[in-house]
Amino acid sequence: MQATVAGKVDVILHDGEGIEIRDYKTSDTVVTEDDASMQIRLYARGLAVIGEQVCSESIAFLEDATVIPVPVSEEMLFKAEQNAEKLISGTMNREFIPCPGDQCKACDYVRICRFV
Ligand code: SF4
Repeated sequence: MQATVAGKVDVILHDGEGIEIRDYKTSDTVVTEDDASMQIRLYARGLAVIGEQVCSESIAFLEDATVIPVPVSEEMLFKAEQNAEKLISGTMNREFIPCPGDQCKACDYVRICRFV
């Protein structure tokens, strides 16, 4: 499968041992913690390809002034990559399985959606 996942890391923090990557989320960002974790793990995967070793990851929720660490391990990065491949494959095969959740609150179709 050939696909490109595009995105950019908000902040790269350097310390003595490696780098930490952080993603910032605002209140108008409709994303679950799991989805945000997957996003940042894919960034780590991409950085590894260019030789940058990510030691830690975090998500900062600006409205709450909280920073949540995202566990990073080879197994978790591999799972995130597999999950992305599964989603891309589903999209390319026109499989759109509904997955109602927190994101429905900001969805334009919530009032007519039969899955909520
Ligand atoms: S309201 Fe329906 S269409 Fe909108 S995000 Fe939720 S499940 Fe998807």
